[in-house]
Amino acid sequence: MTHVSPLLRPQHFIVIGNPIAHSKSPAIHQHFAQQVGLDIRYARQFCPDNADSFAAVVDAFFNGGGIGANVTVPFKEMAYQRCHTQGTLSAHATVAGAVNTLMLQEGRLHGDNTDGQGLVNHLHQLGWGLDKTNVAIIGAGGATRGIILPLLEAGVATVTIANRTLSKAEQLVVQLGAASALIQSKALATTTIEQLTGNFDILINATSIGLSDATLPLSDELCCEFAYDLMYGRELPFLTHFAKQGAQVSDGYGMLIGQAALSFEQWTAKKIALPITL
Ligand code: NDP
Repeated sequence: MTHVSPLLRPQHFIVIGNPIAHSKSPAIHQHFAQQVGLDIRYARQFCPDNADSFAAVVDAFFNGGGIGANVTVPFKEMAYQRCHTQGTLSAHATVAGAVNTLMLQEGRLHGDNTDGQGLVNHLHQLGWGLDKTNVAIIGAGGATRGIILPLLEAGVATVTIANRTLSKAEQLVVQLGAASALIQSKALATTTIEQLTGNFDILINATSIGLSDATLPLSDELCCEFAYDLMYGRELPFLTHFAKQGAQVSDGYGMLIGQAALSFEQWTAKKIALPITL
């Protein structure tokens, strides 16, 4: 791939997704650019949902001098595959099996996954200590896959994964253990959502249930000090439930900002001061 000097102005960025019209990434990155005094263009890039189209969009963007691309649903795994076969991957992207940040490194496509570290940085901002904590995560999809390694690296002692489909949680633990010695050493526990009981320091909802009107079948014997929902932008019954119990709660908007800041910092080598208000 042709490498175009990042000194060219303005610098161009995109977020590739389907659908993509709702994405807040352009506004977030423009805010970052203003903060550090850079002239950027950040556009939403629709792409048909197939690997050939995704590859064509990525190639056209970087061959045309683009500096960095974010990747969102449903392309994170395709981006991982492409970097795996034709480029390079960060440790977080390798373990996550998904890429949300693309850039060129020495002319080759490089993929990273900043979602999990974005979450960790937001938890630190909230003042929720992570060291030696017991964390439970509800959900065993792509988001869970991306957040476990950064949480353990931040000092979390134990992680329990509860999922509607128990076999998926069990499969996830085996796969992540094979990809990371740190995860392997922690022997993650798995259970169903109904059977998740006890008092956790931090409880994270990483299911996509917030997109529907359904509610999680939470046990009466489940409690926590802090409850975090990766979803944002709507009322979240999960957070209401634990706030009533006296837990501190947060939605995932700060994680969205956090993962974006980490992408921006890699692309531009500029440090972003968080939090920001949009
Ligand atoms: P996936 O589709 O990969 O996984 C969905 C998970 O939700 C699965 O574990 C699934 O269980 C579970 N689930 C779905 N519906 C229900 C239900 N009715 N009852 C119980 N469990 C259910 O999604 P992702 O992991 O990619 O995303 C999860 C959430 O995280 C989404 O809401 C997404 O928007 C959010 N997210 C937020 C980010 C941020 O920056 N704030 C970043 C990334 C994700 P099962 O295996 O049984 O099907």
